[in-house]
Amino acid sequence: MTWFNQGMPEWSPFLVGGLTWIYGSDPPTTCPSCSFRWDLPFAAAVDLVSTSPGRIERTLSGRDATVRPVDGTWNAGAYVWHLADLARCWSERWVQVAHEPGSSLVGFDPDDLAAARNYPELPVAPGLWAVRHAVDTLVELTAAVAPEAHFQHGDWGTGTIADGMRWLAHEFHHHEQDMDARAVQPQRIDRAPLAGSTGMET
Ligand SMILES: [Zn+2]
Repeated sequence: MTWFNQGMPEWSPFLVGGLTWIYGSDPPTTCPSCSFRWDLPFAAAVDLVSTSPGRIERTLSGRDATVRPVDGTWNAGAYVWHLADLARCWSERWVQVAHEPGSSLVGFDPDDLAAARNYPELPVAPGLWAVRHAVDTLVELTAAVAPEAHFQHGDWGTGTIADGMRWLAHEFHHHEQDMDARAVQPQRIDRAPLAGSTGMET
């Protein structure tokens, strides 16, 4: 199944709805925050997601992912748990699509889930384990369904496996950058400037 939406081929109604929800009425083809290209080919989207856990582990290695930003937003660890739960949720959805193509996905508010699980307080190590296993399962299931197999999204309409993976690839790409911006080098927490020093790192 192929859609043509104002010169943006292969964007399903689901993806058009999702992008409009993120960016407004005239969604860009490249995310202005993370430079993700929304015309990313399906295989590249799968590859981006499948390699993300390794990049996340390298990004957070030796850094503190539990420090809460002063503005009260999520810490880096919360994004790890968010991606783990997203990958698991969409894995369940691919099982659904394989059994019942075209069926309606049950929606949920990820902020409600984050509050219920208390993402910012959860430990990071099991989050890294969870996201790696969830991604491995998602990639395995994605290989078992056709990219053009479709589903119904409650708010945005018909989508395909391919556009669902583009959606997830952006989530991983965007939030990897959020983690990198929030994870803190230990010395930046523990070391106070010496009296009379400039306070600059050396
Ligand atoms: Zn982005």
